[in-house]
Amino acid sequence: MRLFNTLTRREEPFAPADGKTVRMYTCGLTVYARGHIGNFRTFVALDVLRRALEFEGYAIRQVRNYTDVDDRTIAESLKARKPLREHTQQFVEAFERDAAALGLEPVEYAPRATDHIAAMAGMIQALERNGHTYTTDGSIYYKISTFPEYGKLARLDHAGIKSGARVDSDKYEKDDARDFVLWKAIKPGEPSWEAGLPPGRPGWHIECSAMAAELLGELPIDLHGGGIDLIFPHHENEIAQAEGATNRQFSRFWVHVEHLMIEIEAEELPSSEKMSKSLGNVYNLEDVAAQGFRPSTLRYVYLNTHYRKQLKFSWSVMAQAEEALKRLTDFLARLDALPAGDANPATAARLDEASAAFADHIRTDLNTAAALGVMFELVRALNSAIDAGELPAGDAASVRDTFERFDRVLGILSLRRAEEARPPVPVEDIERLIHERRAARASRNFAEADRIRKDLDSRGILLEDTTAGTRWKRK
Ligand code: AMP
Ligand code: ZN
Repeated sequence: MRLFNTLTRREEPFAPADGKTVRMYTCGLTVYARGHIGNFRTFVALDVLRRALEFEGYAIRQVRNYTDVDDRTIAESLKARKPLREHTQQFVEAFERDAAALGLEPVEYAPRATDHIAAMAGMIQALERNGHTYTTDGSIYYKISTFPEYGKLARLDHAGIKSGARVDSDKYEKDDARDFVLWKAIKPGEPSWEAGLPPGRPGWHIECSAMAAELLGELPIDLHGGGIDLIFPHHENEIAQAEGATNRQFSRFWVHVEHLMIEIEAEELPSSEKMSKSLGNVYNLEDVAAQGFRPSTLRYVYLNTHYRKQLKFSWSVMAQAEEALKRLTDFLARLDALPAGDANPATAARLDEASAAFADHIRTDLNTAAALGVMFELVRALNSAIDAGELPAGDAASVRDTFERFDRVLGILSLRRAEEARPPVPVEDIERLIHERRAARASRNFAEADRIRKDLDSRGILLEDTTAGTRWKRK
């Protein structure tokens, strides 16, 4: 497997240090709002990386955290007049639902930052012992001039770094590289912890360094990933913290996913901008459903662009993806009706060739777009073989197996199947409506009873009245 390593700016062969288990950390959602489809581009790309590494035969130990304490979560919980934990809980739950809907494999560790404050305090104390910190007004800062390698990930120009200047906010620009805050002094109304430090709360960056070291064991870990915006300051600071505290390399590989972009409307020239909550241009999975699309289609859209290229999202791109997915599922359905006959040797050769090309693309810096291309090329060729009467039933199993093997990495077909198996309306809703319809009929309100039946019918659910009561089935 070859991966582009942001640390070296080169594609390099990747294998876990122990040859068996990949220990990887991927930055998770900041749970101050529901994740949008830009966030999920990064999460899906890193899920495919995980699956590709499993495909290579490695075991995985992955952390994907929840940032449930930082500037934004605190600001939003104060606005909502809710305790921090309560405010963030709803977005943790929404993330879990959205992640499952998009077919993300479960990860080994999904920690909330606020459950690991002791590890953060421990790392800050190690940084103090190693002379990397100073305290001002109750807040503890990282003195970046004590870490000569500061800037190695983001490739900062040291001449531009303002020595001694401080920054308290979690996010800031590259040309504003400053001493950053590790632990923020207590402020009225904000949550705080002690953990052997003055009362306060962790800065965003320390959270990931500390949870990675605590949960994944001895440094260096094999791989660290996130969206491209995290290179600076977040990942640069994570390196300074973890390496300053342990005197060991933090992560051998750094993988960054480019942004999902969205077209800017009402502009003369076509242009696009990053999808981001702060720009107010976000869609989430509910918006995707409201446009009539399923999460499997979005997953396809994500995979159809290489993870290091910007993805220009639009509803027409979704419509094209749905067409492509349909071609794929229609082809697989044709396999059920092949004419009887023994396997054609030409099929095995074709499948082998496609499998080799598929694996090759995945192993070349996770080129999922090219891998999808191979899959559709195969669909075209096999459709022609069916039309020409050259694909007998004896080939069906090996063809299906090949597509299933591709799907272990892509996770699109299995997701589509899960979507189809689920009734289009939640079972609780169907049962409630059947109950309401019965009540309407009992009070001779037949118009209402009929409206309920038609409503369910339009959503793909048929009602059947039997002597034993009303039964429902999918249309
Ligand atoms: P946040 O919740 O802001 O910490 O972001 C969670 C993850 O989503 C991070 O890895 C970000 O880099 C990533 N991310 C944020 N916006 C986008 C976007 N428009 N496209 C792709 N990834 C994004
Ligand atoms: Zn992080």
